[in-house]
Amino acid sequence: MPEADIYELFAVKYATHGRTQAANFVDPPDPHEAMPIDYFVWAAVSVDHTFVIDMGFTEETADDRGRTFLRCPTDALGLIGVDANTVRDVIVTHFHYDHIGNFDKFPKADFHLQDREMAFATGRHMLNPAHGASMNVEDVVGMVRHLYGHRVRFHDGDAELAPGISVHHIGGHTDGLQSVRVKTKRGWVVLASDACHLYANMETRNPFPIIFDKDMVLAGYDRLRELADTPEHIVPGHDPLALDRYPAVSEDLKGIAVRLDEEPGGD
Ligand SMILES: [Zn+2]
Repeated sequence: MPEADIYELFAVKYATHGRTQAANFVDPPDPHEAMPIDYFVWAAVSVDHTFVIDMGFTEETADDRGRTFLRCPTDALGLIGVDANTVRDVIVTHFHYDHIGNFDKFPKADFHLQDREMAFATGRHMLNPAHGASMNVEDVVGMVRHLYGHRVRFHDGDAELAPGISVHHIGGHTDGLQSVRVKTKRGWVVLASDACHLYANMETRNPFPIIFDKDMVLAGYDRLRELADTPEHIVPGHDPLALDRYPAVSEDLKGIAVRLDEEPGGD
């Protein structure tokens, strides 16, 4: 039996988007070069706890925004044995449309988020289309309803949710973005979410172009490195390379679901 504070850690792909480098870097090295991104949900599972990290978007949102929808994020979680109907803890890294949808499909969950993200999503910065365009207002309103239903758990900065799992305010991409640090059999792994969209954003310190505060994004890369045991323990939020680098959950789930608690070997 594994120790109670050691988690198995999964990434499951639910959507993808074909695009060029121009959409992925502030300063794209080769703007017309193809560089797709993937959309994931994550789960951390110990003997006692299951945490889902982000909820993805709906098929309707995929159609509205021209994304290629592969499977409902809750079905994606089902592939790794996580039943959304019974999950009690969902960590919302930030309120962008691709992370906060589907909250009505987690009827028993509380939602863990940063004070600053709720303030950001319901405050003056949403008057600026550069920030508001990545939010779906109905998702934000839905989370406000859950607040009044006493299902929101606020965190301010760093917080341990259970032994072996904690959230850390990073900001930058949105004001209240948080990353998640998870103890696994290979050490402390950090799910960056959109504190680092792609390996190349951090490796070349060339951020993803949707930004609230660029200095915070760059400081966030340093913070991720502090939190993770090694750079190989940082998992970016949207990089298709993650599916190549980590072992598949099973032969059937190659290209769909990987184990982030196993050593990265590929690529
Ligand atoms: Zn995202």
